[in-house]
Amino acid sequence: MTIDQIIKNFKENNPKVDAAMIELAYDFAVKAHAGQKRKSGEPYIQHCLHTAFVLVQIKADLETIIAGLLHDIPEDTEYTLADIEKNFGKEIASLVEGITKLSKIKYRGIERYRESLRKMFLAMAQDLRVILIKFADRLHNLKTLESLPLEKRQRIARETLEIYAPIAGLLGVWRLKLQMEDICFKHLYPKDYDKLAYKYEVEKKLEHNQYIQKVKNMLGAKLRETKIPFQITSRFKNLYSIYLKLQKKDRKFDEIYDVFALRIIVSDIADCYKTLGIIHALWRPNPDRFKDYIAVPKPNGYKALHTTVYGPGGKSAEFQIRTKEMDDGAKYGIAAHWFYKMDDGRGQDSKKQPTWVKEILHIQKKTEDTHDFIKQIKFNVFNDRIFVFTPKSDVFDLPEGSTPIDFAYYIHSDIGNQAIGAMINDKIAPLDQELKNGDLVEIITEKKRKGPNHDWLKFVKTATAKNKIKQNLKNSVLDNIKKFIPNIK
Ligand code: MN
Repeated sequence: MTIDQIIKNFKENNPKVDAAMIELAYDFAVKAHAGQKRKSGEPYIQHCLHTAFVLVQIKADLETIIAGLLHDIPEDTEYTLADIEKNFGKEIASLVEGITKLSKIKYRGIERYRESLRKMFLAMAQDLRVILIKFADRLHNLKTLESLPLEKRQRIARETLEIYAPIAGLLGVWRLKLQMEDICFKHLYPKDYDKLAYKYEVEKKLEHNQYIQKVKNMLGAKLRETKIPFQITSRFKNLYSIYLKLQKKDRKFDEIYDVFALRIIVSDIADCYKTLGIIHALWRPNPDRFKDYIAVPKPNGYKALHTTVYGPGGKSAEFQIRTKEMDDGAKYGIAAHWFYKMDDGRGQDSKKQPTWVKEILHIQKKTEDTHDFIKQIKFNVFNDRIFVFTPKSDVFDLPEGSTPIDFAYYIHSDIGNQAIGAMINDKIAPLDQELKNGDLVEIITEKKRKGPNHDWLKFVKTATAKNKIKQNLKNSVLDNIKKFIPNIK
């Protein structure tokens, strides 16, 4: 990978943006990482370049790409965040800072999944671009996993499958989601992966290609007759999704595999519907499988027509029909959405255009329904929530107004039941003190203590704490009764 490739691709997407700063950032990164090598033996700068390249591909903005080039500098070199700010300004420095912070979050397995997810959302709320850089960074790390010891490899793969890939899906960055999933699948379940890859690549390839060709020919002829300009491609199916389907439903490989997937790109919405009509006239549709995501887009903005028909030989064929714009939207998610939107609405003067991310953060105030998902994330995930840290820097999210007792029961019932005091930011605090976002909280426990205090019910905020306190009060009453009347159950 070279910097010229990145600049060339960036200029194609943004002909009017001055890309000189990309070159400067590259020179800076080269200097900072001089002499460093990746575990694979490659010069370290390659990692920076690959990260930036992924960002160019998903049409990220200039600042994001530059931050992608610089993202490992504060952590891994003698240069600091202040150096970055001095040379590249506040905005880029704050993106790099976001990445550096995010990399310090420890992943502690599926049982802490929700916390990890929320931490990601927290970072997203601050600046969505931080998450995109993290995706790009992670994707290159995944591609070079081979050079790491097995245990580390699996940890990274698991974390990616559980956290990064679902968030990429939520944001509609499918291209990254699918790539991440297949690499992780390969590392976590190598035998299953090999088996599936063999079936898919070797055993079924010819049959598959012949079938697709047949469908393409029949449909292509009709589309040409009606003079609808089109592009038709067979879709990339990710092995991991086939694997999941095999796990979930008791279905055989052939049933899943034999759903052939095709994508048709046409020039406008009218042609989407015309094409749909032609497909349904050629082959009988399965009414359960028809989805009009143009009339009713998915919450993340995804638009297309989906239909499954009984194609030649009665074998199912799955079609996605969409315009070029919708197709980019599906591949690049919100990034592409803003890319187009800005092109349509405000002409080509990109210097005046705010970045798409700023728009997204700004959009919370507006009520456009295509952005419902951002609002939903905001509302459901952040609304009235605070994030509180344990001394081991685990993060818990709690409703606003929560107290150390709520926190204690979130960690573990025993901690709640045995709580006798709390330290908030290293200072002794009462058990009913309201916690604030970012507080570091330590619960002081007394092992001999056998249960909660009835008064706690007056101030706890969370249902979890309330239920556990009531439950334990009931238990201790029962214990007492049992002590005195041994035969009672
Ligand atoms: Mn990195």
